[in-house]
Amino acid sequence: MLCREEAIANPESTSADERADTIRYMVDRGVNFINLGYPLLFENPKKACAYVKSALSGGYRDKVKLAVNIPTHGVSSQQELSDLLAAQLELFELVSVDFCILDGVNRFNWAAMKAIDISQWVKNVTETGTASHIGIAFHDDPHYLKDINNTCPHWAFVQMELSLLDYKHHPGVGGFKFTQEYHNGVIATDVTKAGRLLKNIPTNVKEVLDSVHIQQELDERCIQWVLALEEVSSAQLSIESECPTIGHAEKCFAYAEAVIPGTLDVWASLDAAKIRDAYYANRAYLCTTCYCCMPCAAGIDAPRIIELVNDEQMFSNSEMPRLQYNIDRHGAIDCLRCGLCNKHCPKRFPIQEIVLSAHSAYAQK
Ligand code: SF4
Ligand code: SF4
Repeated sequence: MLCREEAIANPESTSADERADTIRYMVDRGVNFINLGYPLLFENPKKACAYVKSALSGGYRDKVKLAVNIPTHGVSSQQELSDLLAAQLELFELVSVDFCILDGVNRFNWAAMKAIDISQWVKNVTETGTASHIGIAFHDDPHYLKDINNTCPHWAFVQMELSLLDYKHHPGVGGFKFTQEYHNGVIATDVTKAGRLLKNIPTNVKEVLDSVHIQQELDERCIQWVLALEEVSSAQLSIESECPTIGHAEKCFAYAEAVIPGTLDVWASLDAAKIRDAYYANRAYLCTTCYCCMPCAAGIDAPRIIELVNDEQMFSNSEMPRLQYNIDRHGAIDCLRCGLCNKHCPKRFPIQEIVLSAHSAYAQK
């Protein structure tokens, strides 16, 4: 089992000591990998990640592999990637790290990464030992994984979001199956959509949950659905969302240990489909990600922005879309107000207005 340090996204939710104790408990129970996230996005990164350093003291650092994340949106040179990696290492007071994850890879920034010869950068970083291995976090249609894996076949792993809502979405289970063919570790993240599947449950979803075949706790359903898929090698759980305390961590271990990989029950699949349909019915825009609105002369990724707007609508919460909007650096691009995206959208969505309104709502000032 893997552990993701999303607690840095909301450092006040549980006490620093409690989070540090939970990390140590999980390491003692067998967690062997900690994803340190990207705390540099936060107002006080040093304060936000202090408890992680505390948890890893006293010999715990040597019991786990650590991964730092570096965002790939807007990166235009190898030096920028190296600077981002150096900043993360400095923050965690590390000389080197076991894994570096190139975060937010999609069709657009992948083209930019190829242009800067990402394979060479990977070779340099791993040869110098700054990071022993490089992995990627991918979010797009599955067929883009082909070029990503062919260009750089030595990724240590590919991690992708996968919850029972994402069966076919960016990249969905098909992306996991396809990536397995390249013998990479294929890791599921956001199995409860950073906890959003566990709270603010819409009325129509509650009604479905009351009527489905298998009655179980929602966190149990989310974790077991992902781990039972044969396409998934492992899953990252979040300190913030799934395991904020030792009690939660104990429950997560029990859920995970009850699963036999590759044995997803037909009833569990049907229940997940019903829950998915209920959530999707609440989207603001039924965007098919056909990409007819792309390319945009300014470089705006409207389908991704619409996905974030839909996310806020489905979960009645703007926190995660805002965070992701800024990680993706959408706020750095100004809409030219040319209106071409509106004209090209077969669904006639007011994309220009959606993009401008998302900018006002989400962009970090
Ligand atoms: S209106 Fe804005 S988002 Fe739409 S194509 Fe023009 S620049 Fe891009
Ligand atoms: S053209 Fe319309 S439906 Fe297609 S991806 Fe863009 S917003 Fe979505």
